[in-house]
Amino acid sequence: MLTARNLTKNYSNLQVLKGVDVTVNKGEIVTIVGSSGAGKSTLLHLLGTLDTPTSGEVFLHQENITRLKGKALADFRNRHIGFIFQFHHLLPEFSAIENVCIPGYIRGHKKAEVKERAIFLLETLGLKDRLDHRPNQLSGGEQQRVAVARALINNPEVVMADEPTGNLDSHNARELHQLFFSLRDQFGQTFIIVTHNEELAPLSDRQLVMKDGRIV
Ligand code: ADP
Ligand code: ADP
Repeated sequence: MLTARNLTKNYSNLQVLKGVDVTVNKGEIVTIVGSSGAGKSTLLHLLGTLDTPTSGEVFLHQENITRLKGKALADFRNRHIGFIFQFHHLLPEFSAIENVCIPGYIRGHKKAEVKERAIFLLETLGLKDRLDHRPNQLSGGEQQRVAVARALINNPEVVMADEPTGNLDSHNARELHQLFFSLRDQFGQTFIIVTHNEELAPLSDRQLVMKDGRIV
């Protein structure tokens, strides 16, 4: 479903990706591991169209998504890709449900439908009693689950997660990671997860090990 061909990325004279080929199948849960500086985040950002490669291409299905720009790029991302980061990046002045709804409103779905789906997702993620809480009224694990619901609101085909458990204690980290599997099983989503968590990284369909700008 998602294919990258011969990706390179240079920052001035530093080559941080040195020719990466990768294919991810629909519904697959892939973890990307490797030491700090190996190029994991850079690769995830290129796969998620958050950044453009110096050379090489990324395809979703058969569509070359490498050179999308402006509104076409923003629309593509909003439609097809969900993002989860180490820090939840929820908007502090909005409630949990409002945070989850925003990408759906931007997408242009009907407000009532977006809200219904947001409630469904938050309930699925065990946050039924937290809909109207602001982020600072939620625990770290709850905040991150709200961020997961937000990533899923537009029913993206791929969810890209950069150290999603990095700010959680081991219990919450394990629960969040298991949640990715149950979401995949329920909705068929594909997850690509960069992680340093040595306990959770092997719990995936496939681990990609990066070293010095390459998948080894
Ligand atoms: P990882 O996620 O495996 O820790 P990164 O992809 O974040 O690795 O970084 C790979 C290398 O690229 C590192 O040496 C990092 O310092 C460098 N790098 C990342 N982003 C930039 C940037 N915007 N400008 C310059 N160098 C960068
Ligand atoms: P299109 O954008 O082609 O009209 P749809 O809006 O019918 O497509 O739905 C595309 C995907 O978004 C579907 O898989 C559906 O599950 C999901 N979806 C539909 N309605 C909503 C909604 N109100 N909020 C979020 N996701 C939705």
